[in-house]
Amino acid sequence: MSNSTANLIELFSSIQGEGSQIGLRQVFIRFFGCNLSCEYCDTNVGVDAGLCRIEQTPGRADFKEIANPVDMNLVLSHLQGWVQEWPKVHHSISLTGGEPLLHLDTLHRWLPELRLILPVHLETNGVLHFALSRVISDIDYISMDIKLPSSSGEIDLWEHHRQFLEVAVQAEVSVKIVVNSTTELWEIERTAGMIAAVDCNIPLIIQPETADDLSIRISTLSLLELQEVASLILPDVRIIPQTHRFIGLL
Ligand code: SF4
Repeated sequence: MSNSTANLIELFSSIQGEGSQIGLRQVFIRFFGCNLSCEYCDTNVGVDAGLCRIEQTPGRADFKEIANPVDMNLVLSHLQGWVQEWPKVHHSISLTGGEPLLHLDTLHRWLPELRLILPVHLETNGVLHFALSRVISDIDYISMDIKLPSSSGEIDLWEHHRQFLEVAVQAEVSVKIVVNSTTELWEIERTAGMIAAVDCNIPLIIQPETADDLSIRISTLSLLELQEVASLILPDVRIIPQTHRFIGLL
């Protein structure tokens, strides 16, 4: 695989359902593969790495499958076509996964070209700080996770997250944590303290873990208590569920 190609899962148009860009229309490019294995992950389960599905018309779910790896020129011409035929519809391009920063060489080559079409929004698990430092100058917005041990099962990523945040703050960044009924107050305090030490104006998004049947795996009272604890440290703490799932969008 050359650095002008990448293994992708899908390319499609939808609204951003999470975080600080919530509700905005974006082009999503979902990269294959992840360096973590969160207990709540449903992203890579059952995905065939050999095929990428590409939506032909923005938001119409008329997918066509092509073989991986996907060439950058195909992605660029597809997006240029969308921007010409549907001008001003999309706010930005969201790079998601899996973990896009695993594809560092590809991003290094693709990002300047993508950014000529639309601003670039990176959705990341917030661990690969060295990779981020190589491409941060070509990213406009970052939505980074901090993986809480209680909900994710990942136990010791704090220092990786701290170093990542130190780099990410060069772009417009927000932090997302997924919480459930096992989340403990010290995890919220540690997260908020880490953010405040870098820049206390970075928004913290508390996202309740959502089951397949769209039920929430934490009580509303517990959610409010977590927000109260974080708000003692940070001025911008929001509770936002995965809204796109509630209206049946990808
Ligand atoms: S970081 Fe995201 S894609 Fe990777 S395992 Fe966790 S939830 Fe899944």
